[in-house]
Amino acid sequence: MRKLNTFSSCHRENIVRKITSKKLDVLVIGGGITGAGILLDATSRGLKTGLVEMQDYAAGTSSRSTKLIHGGLRYLKQFEAGLVAEVGKERAIVYENGPHVTTPELMMLPFYKGGTFGSFTTNIGLRVYDFLAGVKKEERRKMLRPEEALQKEPLLAKEKLKGAGFYVEYKTDDARLTIEVMKKAVELGALALNYIKVIHFLYDDFRKINGVIVEDQISGEQFSIFAKKIINATGPWVDELRDLDGSKQGKTLHLTKGVHLVFSKQRFPLQQAIYFDAPDGRMIFAIPRKNKTYVGTTETDYEGNIARPLVTEEDRDYLLAAINFMFPTLNIESSDVESSWAGLRPLIAEEGKNPDEISRKDEIFISKSGLYSIAGGKLTGYRKMAEAVTDRIVEEFKVTEGILYSPSETRHLPISGGDIGGAKHFKDFKDRKLKEDLALGMDRQTLKNLIQTYGSNIDIIFQLYEDAKKVAQDDVMDPIVLATLKYAISYEQAYKPIDYFIRRTGALFFNIQWVEDHQHQVVDYMEKVLHWTEAQKHLYHEELKQMIEEAKQVT
Ligand code: FAD
Repeated sequence: MRKLNTFSSCHRENIVRKITSKKLDVLVIGGGITGAGILLDATSRGLKTGLVEMQDYAAGTSSRSTKLIHGGLRYLKQFEAGLVAEVGKERAIVYENGPHVTTPELMMLPFYKGGTFGSFTTNIGLRVYDFLAGVKKEERRKMLRPEEALQKEPLLAKEKLKGAGFYVEYKTDDARLTIEVMKKAVELGALALNYIKVIHFLYDDFRKINGVIVEDQISGEQFSIFAKKIINATGPWVDELRDLDGSKQGKTLHLTKGVHLVFSKQRFPLQQAIYFDAPDGRMIFAIPRKNKTYVGTTETDYEGNIARPLVTEEDRDYLLAAINFMFPTLNIESSDVESSWAGLRPLIAEEGKNPDEISRKDEIFISKSGLYSIAGGKLTGYRKMAEAVTDRIVEEFKVTEGILYSPSETRHLPISGGDIGGAKHFKDFKDRKLKEDLALGMDRQTLKNLIQTYGSNIDIIFQLYEDAKKVAQDDVMDPIVLATLKYAISYEQAYKPIDYFIRRTGALFFNIQWVEDHQHQVVDYMEKVLHWTEAQKHLYHEELKQMIEEAKQVT
């Protein structure tokens, strides 16, 4: 088996050499959850695979979601029973294969006199949902009386409260989920590079697509990569790439923006995750996460810069009004917002429908030239979608080349960090590691957080921590920062400070002060080990500072 360090930013040139030296079976464009899932499925079946991502992995929508592995309750409102059943089952698989990035979270659905749902509809709705989604017995819905609901969450509006449904969702870290899937694919032999942008397609004499010209966003160099099948998994950019192929016809994307706001636990001391009705009837989540509370999302049509959706005053005020409506004693204000993010949903346009009503189903388009484009979909359904795409590819290989590839194995394939013998053993695994490693001298909570984040890769982090303790004192760098930064660079291909602070640690959203405190040391360290020029250092640090400002402020 190939060593994980083929996913190191220190080895970019080697990876470029390898990916350009042979014709691949499959080249995936886009390193969000969709592309990562396809890369893993195809690699695990024995195909020669590669992936290029023009920014960092998960820098598009896959780091900007509500961060839930949904059972799909909201689809029930749209009467999409098939979708509820599918995502419910997929959710269980995602959890089983990556329990370190997927954690069950009890969710409360309060209902009020005169609201969209009453006791009867909530009860029936959740019961149908339990059935369709195949929810485990111990996780099935409960109904709460008003006083029980208030006990669980005293901040809830009391007036006209009739009760609440209580059911299980799973929370995740979307970017880490994507990166763990990428890491597994690379471990099995895939070649992957971030900061590589596809700028042209290449075709054979029959105008069948057989390669791409890419531009390295770091060095500016251009080179070609050849592959038998090219997959456009670029989320909100799918139509741009279809345009490049001259095949943007028929159904097109409809982009909608969703924003989330983050508050400190002191200012918004939410105890219990809540799924509630905003004044206009849209459903919104308020979710506790470590010592923060985050709230979202909005849904508005979007036509601006795809790479940089921003939170506007209007978005912010909409969410603040919804919070004060459901939690009236809080009196939350714009100055309480600590951080925020905005993401774009790559929905498939449906004429005459509001964004809220458009189906979240995914679709595969295959152009005349043979370009596969994947549109729509969710984090939750990534594995199933990847299986469907790869099934079609191997079917074509069977016909054109007479080669038989095995069926998908990803249903039972742990992602990186998930090698702990099944989700039900995760608690024992965490307890065991905690006992073993208390001797390292870290405080208990930090240890717990690290074990939860890195799962079965934790031993590498601990080894790096031991090493870091020796050098960090000279560099005045916190050894935990140094250990996780080294890991991000050498095992998770982080190249810029924003990769570490946003996609590898999630800190820009959930611990922005920590980012501000450690930015200089991180930038200095990355400059040294990645041999940046002065200009690069300046550029990447400015980029980080701008991201910090954007997260803190609205436009
Ligand atoms: P992306 O993550 O956007 O990845 C596409 C990638 O392609 C990008 O990284 C981009 O840089 C790259 N790319 C583009 N052009 C090129 C090029 N020319 N060359 C190389 N690379 C290129 N789903 C859930 O299951 N649960 C949720 O809680 C949830 N909440 C959501 C909340 C919001 C506000 C939004 C917007 C979405 C939410 N979703 C949720 C949906 C989910 O996040 C998306 O469906 C999913 O992340 C899309 O992933 P993707 O890989 O298709 O796209």
